[in-house]
Amino acid sequence: MTGGRLTDGAPLLEVRDLTVHHGQLRALDRVSLRVFPGEVYAIIGANGAGKSTLLRTIAGLHRPTEGEIWFDGQDVTRVRPERRAVRGIAMVPEGRRLFESLTVEENLQIGATYARKGPWTIERVYELFGWMAERRSQRTAQLSGGEQQAVAIGRALVANPRVLLLDELSLGLAPVVVQRIYGMLPQVLATGLTVLLVEQDVSQALRVASHLQCLLEGHTTLEGRPSDVTAEQVEAAYFGLAGRAAGPGDDSLWSGSTTSSRGS
Ligand code: ATP
Repeated sequence: MTGGRLTDGAPLLEVRDLTVHHGQLRALDRVSLRVFPGEVYAIIGANGAGKSTLLRTIAGLHRPTEGEIWFDGQDVTRVRPERRAVRGIAMVPEGRRLFESLTVEENLQIGATYARKGPWTIERVYELFGWMAERRSQRTAQLSGGEQQAVAIGRALVANPRVLLLDELSLGLAPVVVQRIYGMLPQVLATGLTVLLVEQDVSQALRVASHLQCLLEGHTTLEGRPSDVTAEQVEAAYFGLAGRAAGPGDDSLWSGSTTSSRGS
């Protein structure tokens, strides 16, 4: 799926010199990125690198100390989260955050509350995830982690966003389940969506991304197309080991086992 980058036009989403604090902690330090229509832009980095903070700030859930967020040619830095959703920014949060006492269908209905006009309906989500329709009346607490992740994706899709922010889809899921979940991406992209995703599973990120950025302790340590960066560069950027060659101890980075075991 890794394809060319259509950078001729204007970016759909642009982050300019974003700095975000959590109290005294500078979680992001002058981070910038430009996401072009139709691409899959991946943010990679270890625990605590600032990946979730970046996505959440784009969604409007954290207020930046400095910097700007532009969406579709407009400055949305001070726009409230629900207004950003209406404009077309939707997020699948880390840990899924479903209403577990509600059914699959009720969770999808909640996602459609601020829905824009567009191709995604609850029925379309049922087509995307073939198992889901017949379990529409089941409470999401009864689903597996992978199934819950699919519902969380569906809930974001039915809002008909223009950009989908995906935070750690792989978290706590078995590799085969992760593959299955990411299998939905081509169909999602075919409806004109743009994707900005965060992954600790570097191999998975590189498989699907057209562009990537690595964060380390709130700083950008690497940016480029997956085809233009070497494994050594990615590892050095991920671990903060400038100039260090890859060693046998770094295998975990490529097996996805850096993924934390949080979640189910
Ligand atoms: P992870 O994979 O562990 O979620 P991450 O790259 O997504 O890592 P963030 O969750 O953005 O990193 O966290 C960046 C830093 O900010 C970390 O040091 C984290 O402890 C801290 N942090 C995140 N959210 C908060 C918060 N709400 N209050 C205080 N500190 C926070």
